[in-house]
Amino acid sequence: MVYDKQNIFAKILRGEIPCDKIYEDEYALAFRDINPQAPVHVLVIPKGSYIDINDFSAKASDVEIAGYTRAVGQVAGKLGIVDQGFRTLANNGPDAHQEVPHYHTHILAGRRLGQIIKSFRE
Ligand code: AMP
Repeated sequence: MVYDKQNIFAKILRGEIPCDKIYEDEYALAFRDINPQAPVHVLVIPKGSYIDINDFSAKASDVEIAGYTRAVGQVAGKLGIVDQGFRTLANNGPDAHQEVPHYHTHILAGRRLGQIIKSFRE
């Protein structure tokens, strides 16, 4: 599969469409999900063009992977959800219902999230 440069997160990264930005650094951008599934629902995306975790883990540099992982932690800290708890989740491919083909981590928080499968869209 080839990375689709016209996917919506690629457009957000290029500044072609707006987002409700929470955090940005050299490696990652985080913004609020447009259709929140919890009181806090933020997406963290790598700045590089990666389709999913398979693509990211195979092609991203160690520095990019470290930077992205640290950004997820930074975002959780910034959102003030660390003590109460939160869920990180990444959908990869059709069976996981990945809608946007640019790798991303969902951060969900702000309520009791319940069982992992039932609490997020089926
Ligand atoms: P996934 O099914 O894991 O690919 O999730 C894609 C997520 O992107 C969904 O939760 C959408 O609500 C969210 N989304 C789609 N378009 C936008 C957008 N323009 N800004 C913020 N979130 C978006």
